[in-house]
Amino acid sequence: MIGVTNDSKIVNGVQHKQCSKCKRFKRLDEFYKFGRGAFGVMSICKECIKQYELGRREIRQKRCNDRYKNDPEYRERKKQKSREWNKAHPEQSKEWRKNHLERFRAYQREYKREYQRKHQREYQKEWKRTHPEHLNKYRKKSIKQDS
Ligand SMILES: [Zn+2]
Repeated sequence: MIGVTNDSKIVNGVQHKQCSKCKRFKRLDEFYKFGRGAFGVMSICKECIKQYELGRREIRQKRCNDRYKNDPEYRERKKQKSREWNKAHPEQSKEWRKNHLERFRAYQREYKREYQRKHQREYQKEWKRTHPEHLNKYRKKSIKQDS
């Protein structure tokens, strides 16, 4: 059923299909292939599926985090599981830890640098504010030296 139907149209000679979620007309390659769907693609576009998946992942992640925080039994089970995994995959676990550590260190370095940069500016401002006499002295001195 290639052509123009209720939820499809041809734009510049290219078949477009309407996404049943965002209602936008999109090219067929912006839909995932699905054998039984119209034009052999799904009725929801890739973008909408991504949003949907992201939303679901977020909810799942959040539920997991909450449970980890509030359910000591669950926490223990999780820890136990990761200990078992580490024991069963010592090499991968070492590799993961190494990668993780490197990433973490890089993050720390970046964070520290950013913090210092920000902090230094504030510190200088604060110092100037609390030591106006120093500034004046310095200025006077340098003027005197000039003349
Ligand atoms: Zn869509």
